[in-house]
Amino acid sequence: MLSIKELHTSYGGLKALDNVTIKIEPGQFVAIVGPNGAGKTTLFKSISGTVSAERGDIQWQGQSIMAMSPAQRPELGIAHVPEGRQMFRELTVLENLEMGAQTAEAKSNWTRNLDQVLGLFPVLGERRNQLAGTLSGGEQQMVAIGRGLMSAPKLLMLDEPSMGLAPKITDMIFERIEEIHKETDIAILLVEQRVAEALASCDYGYVLQSGRIALEGTPEALMKDETVRSVYLGL
Ligand code: ATP
Repeated sequence: MLSIKELHTSYGGLKALDNVTIKIEPGQFVAIVGPNGAGKTTLFKSISGTVSAERGDIQWQGQSIMAMSPAQRPELGIAHVPEGRQMFRELTVLENLEMGAQTAEAKSNWTRNLDQVLGLFPVLGERRNQLAGTLSGGEQQMVAIGRGLMSAPKLLMLDEPSMGLAPKITDMIFERIEEIHKETDIAILLVEQRVAEALASCDYGYVLQSGRIALEGTPEALMKDETVRSVYLGL
């Protein structure tokens, strides 16, 4: 469904992504793990089109999307839930969810998608008229994921959903992500520094290090890898 081939991205001559090749199939849950500054957010921005790749290709259902503007890409069914959540703080929960439902497909499935989001995160129903800026960090992350789901995506890209959250809230968010994976046919691309949690729930994983894919494999294989165990899992 999404195939990234030999992607190179730089900022003012400094390499952020170096020959990155990854793919994700419909309904698959792929995790990309790696330390600070590895290039995880840059990879997502390259897919969304807000950062231009220098070389390589990004294909969606077999067609290159490199020439497509960032505004057109959500029409394909690509939803980007950004790092730091980026709420519209002065808008209510419901208005934030509406901001996710901009495509014709999303508008025509508004009720179904809203039921799905409120089923996953019932607290958002209780707080539908509360200003997003006054929500807790965990609730804001639920709104951010909900806003992505309201766009009726085929691919949901989640950039460090655990960022700044307490371990208990992080566990809950990961449980909900697993639920989305099990109960819908939406493909999930997750980037995370929380390596153990990300590998516990995905179908396939990549380790991104200094802009390069250092390792890839099933979570079982990655969990057995000595480098992953010592560097990322502290075992
Ligand atoms: P983190 O986990 O800390 O969010 P990351 O893996 O998402 O990190 P990126 O944010 O993609 O990493 O950054 C990759 C590299 O590109 C870093 O060295 C970073 O300093 C650099 N970089 C990112 N954005 C810019 C920018 N707008 N201008 C210049 N350099 C940038």
